[in-house]
Amino acid sequence: MTLDDLKAFAEELVVAEYEAIVQKLTERDECAYERGQHAFGRYEYGVDLVGGRKMGPKDEDFERWQRQLLQYKPRKILVLTLHKWKGERIGVMWVSSTSRDEEEDPRFFHQLRVKNFEGRLRIISQYVICVTCFGTTVRPDGKPCEDCRGARWVFRDGERFRLPAPDQIEVVITPTDPKSLLVLEHIQSTVKPKR
Ligand SMILES: [Zn+2]
Repeated sequence: MTLDDLKAFAEELVVAEYEAIVQKLTERDECAYERGQHAFGRYEYGVDLVGGRKMGPKDEDFERWQRQLLQYKPRKILVLTLHKWKGERIGVMWVSSTSRDEEEDPRFFHQLRVKNFEGRLRIISQYVICVTCFGTTVRPDGKPCEDCRGARWVFRDGERFRLPAPDQIEVVITPTDPKSLLVLEHIQSTVKPKR
């Protein structure tokens, strides 16, 4: 896996994920809904980015979901890194959330770990930024964050493992939010170039 492979995958994923969210909230044909969600599953391995919906939705559900849809947009890719893990190369996408309120100022939200399965990249783990310290390790009251115990990121689903230091990094978007800048500085400080 190269950074270019990871970037191409990341760009495809954020579009496909948004389409899967739109489909989940608007598709009235159950079979078409199932097919669409199943198709999105080719990006995932043991993780669930989009989530399911209730069986047999009614008109009022679709009306509510139509309003909910206004809160979503495709994610922004902020940083991509490559790591050597168990003798193979894994990629990490550091991305914003799908929430509209980050439109002007994308912030770090998810850390999606990507593995190569015989030439096809898939997401194997999902970590989310610690909501108490927002990845800074310090709580709003100045005390050390006990929720993530300094790890900055919290496990969500998929394969759980300690992320080794990256040896390659590409910053796609430099965030302007001060807390996200601290997160970016930390990621950059952990890069250990290949010798
Ligand atoms: Zn924390």
